[in-house]
Amino acid sequence: ALRPEADYLNELNPAQREAVELLDGPILMLAGAGTGKTKALTTRIAHLLNTGRARPNEILAVTFTNKAAREMKERVGRLLGQPAEGMPWLGTFHSICVKLLRRHAELVDLKSNFTILDTDDQLRLLKQLVQAANIDDKRWPARMLAGIIDDWKNRALTPDKVPAADAGAYNAKGVELYAQYQTRLRELNAVDFGDLLLHMVTIFQTHPDVLEQYQRWFRYILVDEYQDTNIAQYLWLRLLAGGHKNICCVGDDDQSIYGWRGAEVGNILRFEKDFPGAHVVRLEQNYRSTPHILAAASNVIRGNESRLGKELWTDKPEGEKVRLIGHWDGEEEARWIGEEIDAMQGGTRGVRPMSLDEIAILVRASHQMRAFEDRFLTIGLPYKVIGGPRFYERMEIRDAMAYFRLVVSPEDDLAFERIVNTPKRGLGDKAQQTIQRTAREHGVSLVQGARIALEQGLIKGKGGAALRELVEGLARWNAMTRGPRIEFEDDSVIDDGTAPVRYGLPEVSHIELAQIVLDESGYTAHWQNDKTPEAPGRLENLKELVNQLDNFENLQGFLEHVSLVMDNEQDSGGPKVSIMTLHAAKGLEFPAVFLPGWEDGLFPSQRSMDESGLKGLEEERRLAYVGITRAEEVCTISFAANRRVFGQWQNAMPSRFIDELPEDHVEVLTPPGLYGGGQMSAGIESRAAQANVYNSPGWKRMQARQGQYGMSQPRESRNTVIDATAVASFTLGERVFHQKFGYGGVVGIEGDKVEVEFDKAGTKKVVARFLSAKDD
Ligand code: ATP
Ligand code: MG
Repeated sequence: ALRPEADYLNELNPAQREAVELLDGPILMLAGAGTGKTKALTTRIAHLLNTGRARPNEILAVTFTNKAAREMKERVGRLLGQPAEGMPWLGTFHSICVKLLRRHAELVDLKSNFTILDTDDQLRLLKQLVQAANIDDKRWPARMLAGIIDDWKNRALTPDKVPAADAGAYNAKGVELYAQYQTRLRELNAVDFGDLLLHMVTIFQTHPDVLEQYQRWFRYILVDEYQDTNIAQYLWLRLLAGGHKNICCVGDDDQSIYGWRGAEVGNILRFEKDFPGAHVVRLEQNYRSTPHILAAASNVIRGNESRLGKELWTDKPEGEKVRLIGHWDGEEEARWIGEEIDAMQGGTRGVRPMSLDEIAILVRASHQMRAFEDRFLTIGLPYKVIGGPRFYERMEIRDAMAYFRLVVSPEDDLAFERIVNTPKRGLGDKAQQTIQRTAREHGVSLVQGARIALEQGLIKGKGGAALRELVEGLARWNAMTRGPRIEFEDDSVIDDGTAPVRYGLPEVSHIELAQIVLDESGYTAHWQNDKTPEAPGRLENLKELVNQLDNFENLQGFLEHVSLVMDNEQDSGGPKVSIMTLHAAKGLEFPAVFLPGWEDGLFPSQRSMDESGLKGLEEERRLAYVGITRAEEVCTISFAANRRVFGQWQNAMPSRFIDELPEDHVEVLTPPGLYGGGQMSAGIESRAAQANVYNSPGWKRMQARQGQYGMSQPRESRNTVIDATAVASFTLGERVFHQKFGYGGVVGIEGDKVEVEFDKAGTKKVVARFLSAKDD
């Protein structure tokens, strides 16, 4: 039996109800975050089904992600009191268009079994065309052309429709190449991602009979997150809704965050013109967040000039203020958030006890995730990464680690198999089998096998040359892990008659070596030449990987760490903290949200700050608005004063968005490790001076707010490692401080271990980096 209507309708306010019950004609629901747009949209689907207005396959419902589509289906089922079966047209634009295009492929000269090109192939194809046209691929790289073509496709421009002046540096050649590319794709019976929509728009425009069929078929159309549709998607919708005009779009101009991918917030503003007489429903009550959180979000977004402007209110109890905290560096930030989550879980943080499922960390850039994942793996805090694999499971990280493993141990055959043809070296199955066979016959590792196969001339040509380069590279990099070394004697060690202690440091540090390996193997270039939207993120992840090596003495130690932490973790199936990017968090909500990395250059991104005009910056600000409005009860914003970039410390300035938070609704927290008269090591001191962080206006501003300006200095945080020079910098008799054992005097030095006679704890041998100099 179906559910009585009144049940689900009663859960709505009058404005939402209107949007649900007005089933015919165009409706635009334009409202701020958390006002129940998605809830109303979902209820509308349930209502259409419940009242028998439409069968499940007559409803076209577009969501932004597959995850959102699954959730919507579940919710419809819950509203109806029975599972929503067979809604084939509830999905993302792309998933729906693939299905449609398979049915009508022949109308654009494709076969229904067309392949969807992966971006590697796509780029290779464009490269061939560029070269064939005698264009210098160095000056006009194929990936630049690919970006231009994507942009055209997002704007629904087929080659014949592109304005001649639009090809930038390529001029008329650009359009010509675009046309050739499309021809080539047809010959290959292939499409790229952008074609899915473009072809469907073309089919609808050129075959009115087909269009009419679907206009009749899809009796009701619903679109969530309408503010992020691009022009091709918009045209597609407008064509489909052109007959009955039963289209319901919901969106929020303040949450338009995909402009960089061609989304047009103007689509929302144009709705009333395209569908005259459209019903516009405005929702103002926010059901998600507390007044403090809402006030913070509203104040930030007010900084944008180009917006429709909406006011939100809530009748929720006041709750916690938005919490703001600054940290010494990114590792410290991750450590603090880990402890904070632990405390929240235990209910000792002044807020109600929370399950890990109720907590999310939203980052601006995916490379920020590494610090959290590492920390959480170390302390055994279960987490999941939404919208992508976890850091050490990412393809580029696994590839890079495979290289590092081979450099450290050339017998690692699994690692060799992974990277032998990554990046592509023209080594097909046959060549790889030859290597395997040779290795087996000689009872040696694959690297050795490859070397022998080359010597015996078993692998020739381009692939052979590339393989030789790889094998030689591996030998060279491996040698670098062992030497040459800079050696020195330390005469501060007690002369006990044995040979003097010699210190040796490799001439090339393991951090430099890692970079060399990635560069010389062609792996860095592989991603630099990739034009997919993910490529820049992958390069950043690789940088972050190299950065992190600073925490370890050598590659070996790092690899051990990773295998240990990855092994530590078992999927208990229990609740987990969610980690994701702000972009992936759109439409979601969590009782507690952490927003780390609010620093200029990271958030807002450097690119948006370098841009002339406000467009990029305003999109970043909308992203900040999306972030804050995900929080229901507790919202914690943080920044770090220092970030490591390429193993170098860089002073980071607190985000300009922090200035835009309303003081009355923000509580500034005191970081435990930074104030309160702690100890400071020589390493930190010099870095602090170098970074000049205490002179940054943001830092001063924060201290001033706390009324603590100038009171104290940073203390060594647990995760910060003193540079190598500090190891040898202790002298006998020197007074030192240890976090656990307190004060003492140095009585011996052995390598990186220092023997200390502690005032209270007795004589102990401790690792030098846990000691700081006490100059009194
Ligand atoms: P966003 O812009 O972030 O996508 P939204 O406008 O889609 O937000 P929803 O996710 O639909 O908002 O709703 C936000 C929260 O408010 C949800 O938890 C939802 O269940 C609740 N909610 C929505 N409408 C009502 C209502 N009328 N009464 C009580 N709770 C509601
Ligand atoms: Mg929503």
